[in-house]
Amino acid sequence: MSRSEDLFERAGRTIPGGVNSPVRAFRAVGGTPRFVASADGAYLVDADGQRYIDYVGSWGPMITGHRDPEVVAAIERQLKIGVSYGAPTELEIEMAELLCARVPGLDMVRMCNSGTEATMSALRLARGATGRDYILKFEGCYHGHGDALLVKAGSGLLTFGVPTSPGVPADLARYTLTAQYNDLASVEALFADHPGEIAAVILEPVAGNMNCVPPVEGFLAGLRQLCTREGALMIVDEVMTGFRVGPRGACGLYGIEADLITLGKIIGGGLPVGAFGGRRAIMEKLAPLGPVYQAGTLSGNPLAMAAGLAILRKLDDADLYARLERATTGLLAGLRERAQAAGIAFTTTQVGSMFGLYFNDATQITSFADVMRSDAERFKRFFHAMLARGVYLAPSAFEAGFVSSRHGEAEIQRTLDAAVEAFAAAK
Ligand code: PMP
Repeated sequence: MSRSEDLFERAGRTIPGGVNSPVRAFRAVGGTPRFVASADGAYLVDADGQRYIDYVGSWGPMITGHRDPEVVAAIERQLKIGVSYGAPTELEIEMAELLCARVPGLDMVRMCNSGTEATMSALRLARGATGRDYILKFEGCYHGHGDALLVKAGSGLLTFGVPTSPGVPADLARYTLTAQYNDLASVEALFADHPGEIAAVILEPVAGNMNCVPPVEGFLAGLRQLCTREGALMIVDEVMTGFRVGPRGACGLYGIEADLITLGKIIGGGLPVGAFGGRRAIMEKLAPLGPVYQAGTLSGNPLAMAAGLAILRKLDDADLYARLERATTGLLAGLRERAQAAGIAFTTTQVGSMFGLYFNDATQITSFADVMRSDAERFKRFFHAMLARGVYLAPSAFEAGFVSSRHGEAEIQRTLDAAVEAFAAAK
């Protein structure tokens, strides 16, 4: 028995499914999750001492790789002077100022502890600010596990085939309307059915929880127009894309004028974090200035702020993003070439260093339906063949992958060498 198998069995006795977040359990791909012992740069090391090139990066935060020296140093400095105070610190101002300076559309920002908290709070604020109850989301988009957002959601819910979770009261779920990603007509139809009732449209500007689906030309601008026309707020969920797809996030990359923006992942440098912000007039409706309540014992946690600031200071570098993008483009071109040589229908998507892999012969992936046409069995075989050769991909066909700045030519080449055999095994 491997040590991971042993640990998985032990974990299952006291942790539901042996994991603290469902997709980690490898249910979609079968087999035993690798319990991680340590990580460095582009690599994970499991409890059995096996090394893997990591394309998950803690599901996004690790854009400069594991154990980034500057992040480690910042955490160590803060550790010596206290880990949580429950009172304001200068670090939080520095974080807010930096986020507002970098992310277009952020006049004010409030920190919280996860992406889930960020989107839940943004929705409450949107409802409080507009006095409307309905929200509109897209099928296959995931915005954390808040009740209102677990309707036709992506990520683990798609993996486990329960896109709408039991435990969400039907009375509440009925306020969540779902449209089709990249399909403005489906949004217009819902607005027509609910005139003056929709508080907000929430979206992933690049859908990264049903694999990786980029927005089609005109979709984001069209949504902005529809929201303005209908008096609904546009909430751009940048928990995954923020500081990932570019130094100004998706709002900067695509020129989106959001009303509210949610952030998480990268801005905490790997520590638990979330944030939401936007236009001043809306943010001023938040307690203690306004009546919409939101709070957190550990919000703005000094360790998370120190780690987040350290990483954000490194990310004001167009060159770094250009290098990340080039490495990702090279990886994907290499994978497509090897799949073709193996006679396997395979395509990829990419925005910066965020990517999707599809065992699918579509020439373009633009919709939830396109994603669902992929060959899930082939993905499983490919996933395990890559894992056996030291490459750690997301253990589900519905998750985006990520390249870090520590994935150099050697790592990409090793990944492509592994893929030659893995495509053959996946056939
Ligand atoms: N929004 C998006 C776009 C996400 O990708 C995620 C998590 N993958 C969340 C929200 C939820 O964040 P968290 O897991 O930190 O609660």
